[in-house]
Amino acid sequence: KSFQELGIIDSLCDACTALGYKVPTPIQRESIPLALQGRDLIGLAETGSGKTAAFALPILQALMEKPQPLFGLIMAPTRELAYQIAQAFDALGSLISVRTAVIVGGMDMVPQAIALGKKPHIVVATPGRLLDHLENTKGFSLRHLKYLVMDEADRLLDLDFGPILDKILKVLPREQRRTYLFSATMTSKVESLQRASLQNPLRVSV
Ligand code: AMP
Repeated sequence: KSFQELGIIDSLCDACTALGYKVPTPIQRESIPLALQGRDLIGLAETGSGKTAAFALPILQALMEKPQPLFGLIMAPTRELAYQIAQAFDALGSLISVRTAVIVGGMDMVPQAIALGKKPHIVVATPGRLLDHLENTKGFSLRHLKYLVMDEADRLLDLDFGPILDKILKVLPREQRRTYLFSATMTSKVESLQRASLQNPLRVSV
């Protein structure tokens, strides 16, 4: 099946072609149609499977239908992964001028606060720094968020981000929000995070 046959609109299919994505990977083939139906998803997939585009394409497609600032939040365990995810959103969204911001620890807060003030569509963040901005950056709120992704959830929890994620989840809207949790392994910690954050999720694995 092609991206088009999975329900992806032409401009995003064109971006996939430009990136050399000829056919969807298995995780993309499984996840994209369900995501486009509006379901919450648990994706069991490793890095290298194409999981980033599996969640980025449906989010970008929904964003195009109803553009809005602070539309999607992607939580990643490490800075490096956060930058990689943002790069994927920028590349896939280049034809639709998507604005992304990366919010990670170890960097000056002020430029990040300015970036958030410019109302990006997509925020890719590590949990600690995101919570810091939610608590301390004036005018920054995620109360209209439509999509939340927790990528590499098992690593997020191994790094003890659990309590921080709980605090972040408390200030996110529940209704009108879709959630995707991706993890290489299903542990009991991941299962409790899943119960706390997803609604009637479907499980996809490759
Ligand atoms: P990820 O698992 O998201 O880190 O993706 C692994 C690599 O596969 C990245 O370099 C992507 O650019 C690439 N990729 C993602 N989807 C496809 C696809 N459908 N065809 C070829 N390469 C892809």
